Order: sequence, then structure tokens, then C-alpha cells
Amino acid sequence: MLNEGSKQKHTVLIIDDSPINIEHLAQVLKTDYNIKVANKGEPGIEVAKSQQPDLILLDIVMPDMDGYAVCRRLKADDKTRNIPIIFITTKSDTEDETRGLSLGAVDYITKPFRTPIVKARIKTHIKLKHNSDLLEKLALIDALTNLPNRRRFEQILKREWGRSRRSQSPLSIIMLDIDHFKEFNDHYGHLAGDSCLTRVAQSLTLPLKRPADSIFRYGGEEFIAVLPETDHAIAMTLAEKMRSQVARLLIPHAYTHTSHPYISISLGAATVIPSSRHSPNDLVEAADQLLYNAKNAGRNCVKGILMPSTPLGEPVSSGD
Ligand SMILES: [Mg+2]
Repeated sequence: MLNEGSKQKHTVLIIDDSPINIEHLAQVLKTDYNIKVANKGEPGIEVAKSQQPDLILLDIVMPDMDGYAVCRRLKADDKTRNIPIIFITTKSDTEDETRGLSLGAVDYITKPFRTPIVKARIKTHIKLKHNSDLLEKLALIDALTNLPNRRRFEQILKREWGRSRRSQSPLSIIMLDIDHFKEFNDHYGHLAGDSCLTRVAQSLTLPLKRPADSIFRYGGEEFIAVLPETDHAIAMTLAEKMRSQVARLLIPHAYTHTSHPYISISLGAATVIPSSRHSPNDLVEAADQLLYNAKNAGRNCVKGILMPSTPLGEPVSSGD
């Protein structure tokens, strides 16, 4: 961050119809920030979208579109929603302030302002934004394995489902878990369990070479991979590679009740060409069922299905 050793300056967008106000603010802020300016609401919104400033200073009283309307538009657009807005205005009664804040502005500065106050508030809000971005990112990462977590999985699956549905391309997911993991934890302890999870997580990422392929920690010892534009044969190959990567770790596990005294995984791979006949949840349930089948088949193996274009067991009806 600026003032904390980084070379990159943050960008502040000033939207104000008064050239004198713009000049004054720019003068005060230009040593610390990159300054973008707009003298009307509409071009201001365009600059906000295209330049993605770190903060917006927004005048309230402007011709054509006032600051409240600009704020409402910025908050309604995904591209600009999270940019902090500070209203700068001569209006100073409480009602105006409340209105600005209720529209989603983070702060309110009244003119005539004192330079150190303006600077301090801008710095604070940019820092808060930076921290909340970081928290949001951290909330999507599993702290132990560093893989994205289940919450992130839900987001990505929804996104890729929509994309695959539009392009009518196959979408595959692989659900897997570590065999006899409870016994491993019980006998070797939770620290060993954590270390095992981390090593397995690492090795699961190795077969995934394309940027769009991703793997998530789904829960406890469960993981799930999302593979866009991946047909069933490729999904099965990737699942088998994951299985062998984990087998190759040769993590001793003497309590598997089998002749195979090492950590292994079981996997279910499901593929579908998304349509209105299925939901993303159907795909997850299919993979989950296959994982269960793999367990029943003796573990350390892959089971897969290419889902039919109609839901399993349901005949095509022309009525809906
Ligand atoms: Mg004005």
C-alpha cells in the first residue's frame, strides 16, 4: 500500500461539477494518489467502471444527475459496488448526511474542509477497503490446505454451470475423499492427520494443468474438483491420475483393515452437459453417489458417470 513501502499509488476519482473544487482536491491529493476527475455524473460513472478507482469523492449538488443518483447507480453495478464513496458537499444538515450514508457511502465530508482531515479519512477508507478485500479472499480459502473452500466451490460451480450451459459443453466434477481417514486420525493423531490432508491436497493439484480446472476442500477429508469443458473420458483420466498421485505419496496407514497399508483415496466423477433438466446440485449428488459406490467397490478406485440429458430414472416428458 501507499505510504507503507509499496510503489503503486492508489487511485482516487473526483466527481464534482466545480472546476475550482476539483482543482483544490487534486492539489491536496496528487502527491499521494493518482487522480482521475469527472465534472458530471454520467462520465464519472463511466470512469469508475473503466478505471476501477480505489475510492470516489463525490459531490452532491451537480446539474443533470446529483450525487445521490450517481451513488445509487454505482452501488447497483457489480463493477463499481465495492468502491468506497465519500460525499463531499457544502450541505451539512443531518438529513443529508443520513441519506448519503443510507445509499452506501462510507463517509461524508462537508466543505469548507480541512486538508489533514480529508487526507486522513481517505487514507482510512482505502485501508479499510484493502482489509475487507483481504478478508473476503481469506473467507474463501481453507487455512490448512490453502485450497479454496466449499463456499468458493459453490460460487465456481454456479459460474461454470452457467458458462457450460450457454456453450453446451460438458462440465465434469470429481468428488473424492481419503479412505479410512478417521482411523488414521485416531491412531496417528490430529497433527499427523493435518499433515496428511495437506500433502494429499498438494498432490491433487498436480494433474490439473489447465487454469480453469480447480480443486476445493469440500469438508473434513473430502475434496471436489470442477473441470469445465471436460468430457467424461478426460474426467476419468484426471481422476485416475489423482488417485495414483496420492498412492505415490506412500503415507503409511497401518489401520486400513486391508492389505494396503498406505493412504489412498476413492473418487466419483460425474459429467453433464448442463440444461434446465438438471441443477448443479444434481451433478454434485451424482458425484457423491459415485464416491459411495467407489467405497463399496473396495476403495482406492474411481467410479464415473456421464449423466444422460434427462435426470436419472425420469422419462422425457413433452409437457414441460
Ligand atoms: Mg457541485
